[in-house]
Amino acid sequence: MYLGVDYYPEHWDVNMMDEDMQRMKEMGVNIIRIGEFAWHLMEKIEGYYDFSYFDQVIQKGKKHGFKVMFGTPTATFPAWLAKKHPSILSKDEYNHERAFGGRRQYCFNSPIYREYTKKIVEKLVDHYKEEASIIAWQIDNEFGHEGSDLCYCEECHAKFVEFLQKKYENINKLNEIYGTIFWGQTYNDFSEIPLPKPTITTHNPTLKLDFIRFRSYSINDYGKLQIDLVNKLKGKHQKITHNFFGGFFERAYDQNEMAEKLDFVSYDNYPVWGGLVEPLEPSHIAMAHDYMRGLKNKNYWIVEELMGAQGHNIIGYLPRPNQAKMWAYQGMAHGCENMLYFRWRGMTRGAEQFCLGIIDQDNETGRKFKEVQSFIKDITPYEDLIKSEIKSSIAMLYDFDNIGSWKGQQQSYGFDFTKELLRLYTPFYYLNTNIDVISIEKDFSSYKVLLVPVMQIIDEDLGRRFEAFAKKGGTILFSFRAGIKDRNNNIHFEKVFPCIIREITGIKIKEGEALQEDHKVFIIGKDKYEGKKGTCSVWRDLIISESAKVLYGYEDKFYKENACITVNQYEKGKVYYVGAGVEEDILKDIAKEIVIDKELRYIESPKGLEVYVRDYNDEEWLFINNHTDEEIIFNGNIMMAYESKIMKR
Ligand SMILES: [Zn+2]
Repeated sequence: MYLGVDYYPEHWDVNMMDEDMQRMKEMGVNIIRIGEFAWHLMEKIEGYYDFSYFDQVIQKGKKHGFKVMFGTPTATFPAWLAKKHPSILSKDEYNHERAFGGRRQYCFNSPIYREYTKKIVEKLVDHYKEEASIIAWQIDNEFGHEGSDLCYCEECHAKFVEFLQKKYENINKLNEIYGTIFWGQTYNDFSEIPLPKPTITTHNPTLKLDFIRFRSYSINDYGKLQIDLVNKLKGKHQKITHNFFGGFFERAYDQNEMAEKLDFVSYDNYPVWGGLVEPLEPSHIAMAHDYMRGLKNKNYWIVEELMGAQGHNIIGYLPRPNQAKMWAYQGMAHGCENMLYFRWRGMTRGAEQFCLGIIDQDNETGRKFKEVQSFIKDITPYEDLIKSEIKSSIAMLYDFDNIGSWKGQQQSYGFDFTKELLRLYTPFYYLNTNIDVISIEKDFSSYKVLLVPVMQIIDEDLGRRFEAFAKKGGTILFSFRAGIKDRNNNIHFEKVFPCIIREITGIKIKEGEALQEDHKVFIIGKDKYEGKKGTCSVWRDLIISESAKVLYGYEDKFYKENACITVNQYEKGKVYYVGAGVEEDILKDIAKEIVIDKELRYIESPKGLEVYVRDYNDEEWLFINNHTDEEIIFNGNIMMAYESKIMKR
């Protein structure tokens, strides 16, 4: 198992390297991640490549037996390049060029940037292809992060037009699908199509979705350029990865496409960052891990595991003693099998002065050092268990087109895509079930339960797959607005909502209502939930049951005849429909009903205590993590604040 740190020796006096590495060794490190962001150090003057600094780092590391993950440095290009070719700089939606000075401000479609990328990557990989200690290449850094997924420059505009031309071939076809007859937007030629920059009211929804698809294509195409190059040049013993950031549902970037081309997925795990008063909810952190594992349906690496408080301008919550260690255990539970901490030492200068690491500015080995040291010592004996495969009976599905569709029209001020995923994920998380978070592109036919949050795009093909799944006995849980749109982001015509899934859900929806931020509606249980009351927000579908059983209805003067939550027996399967942003307490009952009905393994635990079950060597192993600052007793074990334990069940 690789356990190590992100090391930026170039930030410090060269004479500190030996002592740094000596202390890393004491901490238990066997791998360092270097090189990302150091383009200027490798090519100070255009065309003069010099890797001697990193030769030295690698040689010193070898003395301690350190392996290396080396980053291609393209996330931060040298100042001379920006000065010579300002056209490489990306532009925001107001046509403002992003200045040299931050990071990731290059345009993925700039032919000049792509040429310079090829040169530096070629020279770098060629130089180190035979270096035995470099076991992996990291391509760039956090593609699409911090708004770098979007660019509105002239180069991108031309490429977007080309992208549309290739997709639609004929302008009349595009006009028809976009419905440009509306507001007289009909195009005579592809070159007339705008980028969706700010305008009065809003752009065409299909144009907006195509732009998001185009942005994703641009990032993936640029990534492919590097991946192909590295593949061609690298040593056989070297693998390729990329470090994905969290918050992926907010970016115009389908990470599945890139993950396919990588040898393994890497993730930068930050449960807290600048400005957060509290860390993310435990279920939110867990869902991100399950998403990363789902990208390749395989275990993955964490190459930036948070240790200290973080912040560029505003600083966030300080992880309490042992809390960051517990997050590391949580990552291992969910399928991380090699881990590097961010970062060895916080840098006293530069933009990330307040992104703290294991060692602080005093350069002393303190509490955080000991915490990482103890984690490495404690986790190492479990290597085989940690590397074992994770099997889940439940899959939560997402679709990149659907995410893009909601991004363009959120419909309610209260709507947040990630929160809607969590609304369905969290009740099953509380029952400590294993959940895969996967794209609809993946085969989901062998799962027992599908969670399908706010899937407003459902085309015939996807509809058939859901139908087949239910037919043979699977359970599906849809939430509101499901199935209202086609793959072109247009509303299905001459179909009653929820359109293609109407038959399997056994319901129809004639009207619905956006519930804005403080707008809450009351619901009341029927049947086995008779009399139980709850609230919903964000949206409500006014459901009319056709063959479904009503589990909850609205407590409402006008709509008390309409259902809010239903379940339909469809052949051998069951199809639930949650027609509103229903509160957690109600959905916990539904989740429990489903896991009992499907005879899935589940464990009830006190709130804040996560128990992740791994099957290994015909035995069940529990990864128990206390996410709270209180002592909790579970199955006779005392779990101190933020304590983690691994044990046989
Ligand atoms: Zn651009």
